[in-house]
Amino acid sequence: MSKPLDIVILGGGTAGWMAAMALVSFIPRGRCRVRLVESEEIGIVGVGEATLPQIKNFNDSIGVNEAEMMRATKATIKLGIEFVDWGAKGSKYIHPFGVHGPADMAHIFHHRWLRSVLQGGKSGIEDYSFAVQAARHGRFDFPEADSSKIESTYAYAYHFDAGLYSLFLRRLAEQRGATRTEGKVREVVQDPESGDIRSLVLESGETIFGDFFVDCSGFRSLLLDKTLGVGWEDWSKWLVCDRALAVPSENDELTPFTRSTAMEAGWRWRIPLQHRTGNGYVFSSNFIDEDAATDELLRSLETKTLAEPRLLKFQAGRRVVSWEKNCVAIGLSSGFLEPLESTSIYLIQVAALQLLPLLPGNHLDHRLRDEYNRLIDKEYERIRDFLILHYKLNQRDDAEIWRYCAEMEVPDSLSRKIELFRHSAFIERYHGLFSPPSWLSVFIGQGLMPEGYSPFAETMPQDKLDAFLDGLRSEIDDKVQKLPRHDQFIARYCAEAPAESISEEVQL
Ligand code: FAD
Repeated sequence: MSKPLDIVILGGGTAGWMAAMALVSFIPRGRCRVRLVESEEIGIVGVGEATLPQIKNFNDSIGVNEAEMMRATKATIKLGIEFVDWGAKGSKYIHPFGVHGPADMAHIFHHRWLRSVLQGGKSGIEDYSFAVQAARHGRFDFPEADSSKIESTYAYAYHFDAGLYSLFLRRLAEQRGATRTEGKVREVVQDPESGDIRSLVLESGETIFGDFFVDCSGFRSLLLDKTLGVGWEDWSKWLVCDRALAVPSENDELTPFTRSTAMEAGWRWRIPLQHRTGNGYVFSSNFIDEDAATDELLRSLETKTLAEPRLLKFQAGRRVVSWEKNCVAIGLSSGFLEPLESTSIYLIQVAALQLLPLLPGNHLDHRLRDEYNRLIDKEYERIRDFLILHYKLNQRDDAEIWRYCAEMEVPDSLSRKIELFRHSAFIERYHGLFSPPSWLSVFIGQGLMPEGYSPFAETMPQDKLDAFLDGLRSEIDDKVQKLPRHDQFIARYCAEAPAESISEEVQL
């Protein structure tokens, strides 16, 4: 049997430990050895508190006990994101994790709803989303497994403490055989002929050799950028924010949703955790300076701050390729899209899981690399378009950033989607982020009402449709009222958590 592949991961943030967990959980020990190098002195970026429902699949597949993870990371439940003042000042909508209407009608429901609205119906699309109604009422329980029930039509994610999540994964990855080396990389040694990375030299003088390297070094991108010189694709003409101020404050209401409020030159997040509230202002330095942004953020907080605001600088975009030579970049080292839809941890998950089937054996084949890069590109571009949509479809004329965004040219791939929806409420369905209910929520939430709907919608007579919509709205209202309050759910569920977390079962 051939020698196991020696995989070296540089970086121990969320990306490094998620990648390590995926590798040690799904590749037999005889086939690869995983060593992770990180520097406590450099630390991790420490933000990244809101997630998407896919993280539950990741955690489940690696055998994480959910209640224990939630207790360890001070997590709360997230049913979606509330956007305040985004479409127009004073407007509010929720992008929920779930469909509108019954599960078996998901592909046609919004056309039927639209037909009713165009004939004078007054209900909003949110009235038919179980997730939105539960979020608005601050209630939560697990979705029903039986897909014929309206309580099955949603999913959920978490808000958690990013530093605690990395620590949680580290403990599990080490139990499964990953080894960790503390130290700062001083030099990266490459093969003089192939350019492949051969080793990392630490400040202590220790040299760490590897066959394959995973760059999880965060914004530094020490391997992919600084060593291999992979270029950067700049998307800042569409996603103009380039700074964030992050500040924790005392906790208050445990809403089961993230709140994103549009501001003078960007937007502000509010993420409730069990022990504190995470806040931040993502802004563009072209439209506001740091002092003014700090003032605006601090003035807007509902509770007392627990630390000084911390400034982070970035640019929207991605590395031209994520995999070059014998190195794959995962996490911030591969690109950055602002946290408006909490997509970075999802991208880490996709990157780590996509690597598994394409991981080279003893021989690096460029076809594996090219396929990996193609798949990751697609994910990035679709998410990019979805984020741009929020900015493009705004009707605010009270601040320069919003006027700029409403006027800007957007990628053709996005213009096409907007025009198809405007014309006939058509939304393309594809594998990956985001699914039609997400696009629908943002289109409608930002004020784009379609001019027409599919003839599909007319398969139900009007009087039947009216009665059906009335009944559905009442059913959702009734059932949501019976759910436990979110704070009570968290307290009960976390109290039930077992002391030990990991099951030996992995499911992929
Ligand atoms: P980091 O956490 O920065 O880790 C880098 C690692 O590399 C560290 O361990 C460091 O020690 C190590 N390292 C670097 N250089 C060296 C060296 N020379 N030697 C040794 N070790 C080294 N994502 C979401 O999904 N949801 C959110 O709500 C969200 N909010 C965000 C808000 C902001 C303002 C920002 C900037 C990002 C946000 N993200 C969010 C993104 C999320 O924070 C990151 O995707 C996630 O934390 C992963 O970071 P990382 O592991 O790639 O990098």
